[in-house]
Amino acid sequence: MWVDGKEVLASSGKTFSVQNPKNEEVIAQVAEGDAADVDHAVAVAQRAFQQWGQASAESRGHIMARVAEILRRRLDEFIDIEVEQTGRARREMAAQLARLPEWYDYFGALARTHEDTVPPFGGQFLNYTRRVPLGVVGHITPWNHPLLILTKKVAPSLAAGNTMVVKPSELAPLTPLLLGEVMREAGVPDGVYNVVPGFGAGAGAALTTHPGIRKIDLTGGTETGKTVASLAGRNLTRFAGELGGKASVVTFPDISPRAVVSAVMFASFVATGQTCVQGARLLVHRSIHDEVVNELVTRTQALRLGDPQDLKTQVGPLISERQRAVVEKYVRIGIEEGATLAAGGRRPEGAPYERGYWYLPTIFTDVRNDMRIAQEEIFGPVVCVLPFDDEDEAVALANGTEFGLAASVWTSDVRRAHRVAHQIEAGIVWINDHHRIDPASPWGGFKMSGIGRENGIAAYHDYTQIQNVIVNLSKEPFDWFSDDGEAKRYS
Ligand code: NAD
Repeated sequence: MWVDGKEVLASSGKTFSVQNPKNEEVIAQVAEGDAADVDHAVAVAQRAFQQWGQASAESRGHIMARVAEILRRRLDEFIDIEVEQTGRARREMAAQLARLPEWYDYFGALARTHEDTVPPFGGQFLNYTRRVPLGVVGHITPWNHPLLILTKKVAPSLAAGNTMVVKPSELAPLTPLLLGEVMREAGVPDGVYNVVPGFGAGAGAALTTHPGIRKIDLTGGTETGKTVASLAGRNLTRFAGELGGKASVVTFPDISPRAVVSAVMFASFVATGQTCVQGARLLVHRSIHDEVVNELVTRTQALRLGDPQDLKTQVGPLISERQRAVVEKYVRIGIEEGATLAAGGRRPEGAPYERGYWYLPTIFTDVRNDMRIAQEEIFGPVVCVLPFDDEDEAVALANGTEFGLAASVWTSDVRRAHRVAHQIEAGIVWINDHHRIDPASPWGGFKMSGIGRENGIAAYHDYTQIQNVIVNLSKEPFDWFSDDGEAKRYS
């Protein structure tokens, strides 16, 4: 674990192993935290809050700029470990991690440039607000983008003056732990950033229900989100949830079938389909459907699987045996529901795929919107192709799931692009793109995809609470209970 600026063992002495999903080799033994460890980490973070919560925004900003600088310097080390613990292709992890220092720069600058308000107040008063930190906050994170998702929570928390206890995914806790070294080297005071690895039902539940935690920020599945939100609610702990998705890639026939195929392959197969905004549903106009499907199948079958550390590899394994079993279950369901398996639908054969959690990129055609494969989050490299006849039908299909995290709209008609985007019930809509993210740009879901926003000013505000200071400027002596015959008023 990483607590109070150093590595420590779990109080129980227990550990769990972390595997490399490409070959099932154990790459690390990690301390398994429980309620006692969470208790200790929260107490350490409460003590550190006395200092960090009072530090000036300027000094926090300077320290965060150093975090960014050190991360840039140690990038390769982080990329190596991220690839080993997630099995994601190095070309993706290198591109993703290179952006992370921007979050520390952006939120550090936001803290330094933030201005409070002076709301009107009747009578002779000066009235102003201050945004103050919440205290100790808890971050519970998934395995698919271990460091990116953590960074989206840590950077605004630090900038606003909070201290934190992180419970990373049991499948990928290594980079969140290593980040502790960066924090220490940058001058973040000991106890501000703490990591208690462990399982959801152990360390995760203990953090969620801890009365000393002022906010729980979770990225994970929608069912986990409901459980964590209801447990946090018992202590009136604030809750933010970045949850599941089933994004549509809405493509219009005014772009070429080849461009449609490139769009959906990028949207769907990055991270072997294991992203919350994965383009799980390709909505394509019936007039180009067959041409798109033919080319999509050909290009999907040509994707290069292989050693994730090899820069030429395009698709790595799934994260775990369990995740592969989920994908296999949904492929069976899709076939039983009557969809047509057009590509993939099985594990690759031969060396080096005998070990590890490999699965071929998969395409289903003849999919109806009421099928489970079109509705439920699979979290793997499976794309459902659904044809539509007109714009209204495309919008209805895009909105026809319980999720509302993201969608992309592909067209060269500027009016249609915005018109459709405005009708889509999703927190993030890309036009002629997918997956792009920026520290300044709000990220979060509508409907069952979540509560709250990461990134941008909204995320910074959500890690603060407002204090209102009301100053009486009057020269008159004040005595509410005097019998001076004057009418009394509150303002
Ligand atoms: P998960 O829900 O299984 O686990 C997420 C985290 O919650 C883990 O750290 C886990 O240990 C913890 N957890 C599980 N049960 C808990 C409990 N009862 N109490 C406290 N903590 C608990 O999710 P995962 O498999 O790690 O990640 C995949 C899911 O995350 C997908 O549904 C995906 O859509 C979602 N996700 C969403 C976003 C987003 O931005 N909206 C981003 C990435 C992933």
